[in-house]
Amino acid sequence: MSDPVVKLDKLTRSFEQGDVRIDVLKGVDLEVRPGEIVALLGPSGSGKSTMLQAIGLLEGGFGGRILIAGQDASALDGDERTTLRRDHIGFVYQFHHLLADFSALENVIIPQMIADTPRADCDVRARELLGVLGLGERLDHRPNKLSGGEQQRVAVARALANKPALVLADEPTGNLDEGTADKVLAEFIKLVRDNGSAAVVATHNERMAYAMDRVVRLHDGVLE
Ligand code: ADP
Ligand code: MG
Repeated sequence: MSDPVVKLDKLTRSFEQGDVRIDVLKGVDLEVRPGEIVALLGPSGSGKSTMLQAIGLLEGGFGGRILIAGQDASALDGDERTTLRRDHIGFVYQFHHLLADFSALENVIIPQMIADTPRADCDVRARELLGVLGLGERLDHRPNKLSGGEQQRVAVARALANKPALVLADEPTGNLDEGTADKVLAEFIKLVRDNGSAAVVATHNERMAYAMDRVVRLHDGVLE
């Protein structure tokens, strides 16, 4: 069998606030297989964002081990971690975090250029993704000229631009009204599947969660 895309081995994370210490993650174990889409549920404050930041190699300060595509991230230096992230991981956040001064198309082209993809290929890929997401007529719009749902669709296209083996999504539709949220989440999941990526998706939408391949729940610092 191929390596898991993600393997967490007794992942821990604590925060100090004054002289109070909160143990947020207390030994999280998880394996995500290639192409598997995992819903991450848990109440607000249970540590979903903290866990996704760890998997995404965005923050240090963790205990335990994080393996991405078989590589032990804790054994890498900062540059190597950045490369590992760039080569394997795409992100979607609750708030789109698009580049305000660039068009929808450019927002999807830029991460590909950073990954040294030839310019013409970047353009084709960006148009294809945005077209699938119904944004073919909005390519030249800047983020502030797009609706909330459209902004999140651009963020989805950007996350998939480099065909990552793993997509991490932190309440990707939490900022949208219910109808739009359901639509964008369904489009997102379909695109992830068509792309063959694995995903870990933190969501409050239990109904959509059960349409994914597996549901895990953070409770009291561990997955159940
Ligand atoms: P969720 O995404 O499930 O709502 P979070 O991962 O954002 O949960 O937060 C989990 C807990 O960790 C919360 O109690 C939060 O206050 C705490 N926390 C998260 N980030 C920090 C930080 N940078 N400093 C201190 N506490 C933090
Ligand atoms: Mg969160």
